[in-house]
Amino acid sequence: MKKVILITGGSRGIGAATARMAAANGYAVCIGYHANREAAEGVLEDIVAAGGEAIAVQVDVGCEQEVVRLFDRLDNELGRVSALVNNAGILEVQARVEDMDAARIQRIFTTNVSGSFLCAREAVRRMSTKHGGRGGAIVNVSSGAARLGAPGEYVDYAASKGAIDTFTVGLAKEVAAEGIRVNAVRPGIIYTDIHGSGGEPNRVERLKDSVPLKRGGHPEEVAKAILWLLSDDASYSTGSFIDVTGGR
Ligand code: NAP
Repeated sequence: MKKVILITGGSRGIGAATARMAAANGYAVCIGYHANREAAEGVLEDIVAAGGEAIAVQVDVGCEQEVVRLFDRLDNELGRVSALVNNAGILEVQARVEDMDAARIQRIFTTNVSGSFLCAREAVRRMSTKHGGRGGAIVNVSSGAARLGAPGEYVDYAASKGAIDTFTVGLAKEVAAEGIRVNAVRPGIIYTDIHGSGGEPNRVERLKDSVPLKRGGHPEEVAKAILWLLSDDASYSTGSFIDVTGGR
């Protein structure tokens, strides 16, 4: 059976590493991206050059109509989705809660939480044996911040990842009898562009000594955990979490 995977935020960072690794593992890959078409096309070209199959689709995961359109394209161009990685995520410039306005909090929750719900909804409609599907697996990308709270930096972001953890537990139980496993990874401090959005591109360097393993993590180290959770090797794991945080 053809393995078809959607990776939101597949153009950069953890999502891009997961997309390349998924293709190497035999998945036909849909790379979701938001604004950076060049980065998405770079990942696409790498996959095709290595003999894999992929498409890149622009989407704002927080927009319901765009998510519906994304899954329509996926159906038509790659076939029925069997794996979803809810990886697209944002944070904003480091701030204390007392300085956050409603618009910022809304943006964080719309992309990180609503986006994951909407993509999971479309995936479940296609995967669930209740709807005639053949099952599947979903991995949500949470964060170690869900446990730590990110004080003084982005409590809004950390809280959105706390919501993702609860979403993972609830959805896992809801669809377990319908052939779908739902798990999450919680990355720690990983070398990607996201820290620049927080106003501190070198954040990993500042914090790495606070990590028990005394270094930042690499996107590929997170991608391996995601792909394991999606694989049949994780067949008895659902509603579970892998922390890829160097012990932090
Ligand atoms: P990144 O390098 O900043 O990449 C973010 C990705 O998300 C990009 O592909 C971006 O697309 C996409 N994206 C952003 N907003 C979107 C939207 N509204 N709709 C669709 N796609 C959107 O981030 P990353 O560090 O790899 O993070 C990936 C995930 O890991 C996130 O959920 C993040 O919270 C989580 N995480 C990261 C770390 C870390 O230290 N890096 C730690 C814990 C958790 P474009 O390229 O088109 O902009």
